[in-house]
Amino acid sequence: MKNFLNLNVSSEKLTDLIENEIQNYFKQKLIPEKINDREKFQFPLIPLGISNRHIHLTEKTFSQLFGENTKFEEMRPLYQPGEFASKHLLTIVGPKLRSIPNVRILGPLRKYDQVEVSLTDAIFLGIDPPVANSGTLENAAPLTLVGPLSSVYLERCAIVANRHIHMSNKEAEIFGVKNGDYCKVRIGGEKSTMFENVLIRTNDNWKLQIHLDTDDANAANVRAETFVEFFGKM
Ligand SMILES: [Zn+2]
Repeated sequence: MKNFLNLNVSSEKLTDLIENEIQNYFKQKLIPEKINDREKFQFPLIPLGISNRHIHLTEKTFSQLFGENTKFEEMRPLYQPGEFASKHLLTIVGPKLRSIPNVRILGPLRKYDQVEVSLTDAIFLGIDPPVANSGTLENAAPLTLVGPLSSVYLERCAIVANRHIHMSNKEAEIFGVKNGDYCKVRIGGEKSTMFENVLIRTNDNWKLQIHLDTDDANAANVRAETFVEFFGKM
């Protein structure tokens, strides 16, 4: 402070200098040096995962589409422990007979059939899916899934997944939130954007990660491998 006071500068300039110093301090403190340091994030940063369109299936529907003798196989693990991208792809078809090929099935197999699409996909397919939590399918939109062996029409399967953050209960304590809370996050950069209504989901098996769909990520002009800033509860 002494140095500043001896300088012959205006109070505006002094304020700028101090603001810059504070910003630099927080940048150094918060932004991990390399993106490989994902695991070394610090509050209030949350690693971003961008969810492209994907499918969850029951064992029964998988067998119908691929045949009884086809084993459900992993291609590569996802960031969340136990979750993986499978080797299997389907074509999804909407009521106007418009289709999107090569939509990946994620594992493990679940107790329900669900197709998560972006609003852009939904408009292209000609469906009107609700924004919903994974597994909440009461108002979900219909699609036909086409596999190598057969096709299945699912009356209620398509949703636009809501924005959500996976975290452990310990992390929830650090962020001052609990399961079911909604919060705000910000993404910086040229198209910096504030996202609201982001659902907190806690489970001690999960690693801290926010999931946004491709429409949200595109709106903020981000690809994968970046961080969002937590901006508090709604
Ligand atoms: Zn998720």
